Amino acid sequence: MMICNDDIIKNGNEILRRKADKIEMPLSKKDLNTGKAMLRYLKMSQDDKKAEKYKLRPGVGLAAPQINISKRFFAVYIQEEKEIIQFVVYNPEIIAESVQMIYLGGNGEGCLSIPNKSGKVLRHKKIKIRGTWYNPNDESIVEETRTFSEYPAIVLQHENDHLNGILFTDKITTNLGDAEEIC
Ligand SMILES: [Zn+2]
Repeated sequence: MMICNDDIIKNGNEILRRKADKIEMPLSKKDLNTGKAMLRYLKMSQDDKKAEKYKLRPGVGLAAPQINISKRFFAVYIQEEKEIIQFVVYNPEIIAESVQMIYLGGNGEGCLSIPNKSGKVLRHKKIKIRGTWYNPNDESIVEETRTFSEYPAIVLQHENDHLNGILFTDKITTNLGDAEEIC
């Protein structure tokens, strides 16, 4: 399975507004393979040559409803200075959030489902999220709680919103208060 730009559902389609369904555990081969394909899309989209060849819009996160699957999982592929944060998480649940808020600087957030739109959105600086995680490095699948902060926390909150039918454009604000800018 290969995901292309045309497979990504664009704003206006009602599936993006639906609350996605929980995944049945143990994880099915199908849901696992879909998650792996979503990760591959993200990885390739960040490789300039491949992105150009296959005309992929670069992204760091992709949620199942964005490829027309109304189920609770999303993939993340973030290249940090020292490490690559990459996984698929099934049935994620944010169980704790910091009071301190942050936002992505520059043009702010964007979304593969909403081309040509960006804007600043308040997010929690730190979140704890419980779920079943697929790790492509060792192919392991583990159920646990993980903590994310700063940029990865922004990405995870954006993707988690997709599972609840919420788009970042619903949350764009100019009233950033004392939130910290993240770049
Ligand atoms: Zn999005």
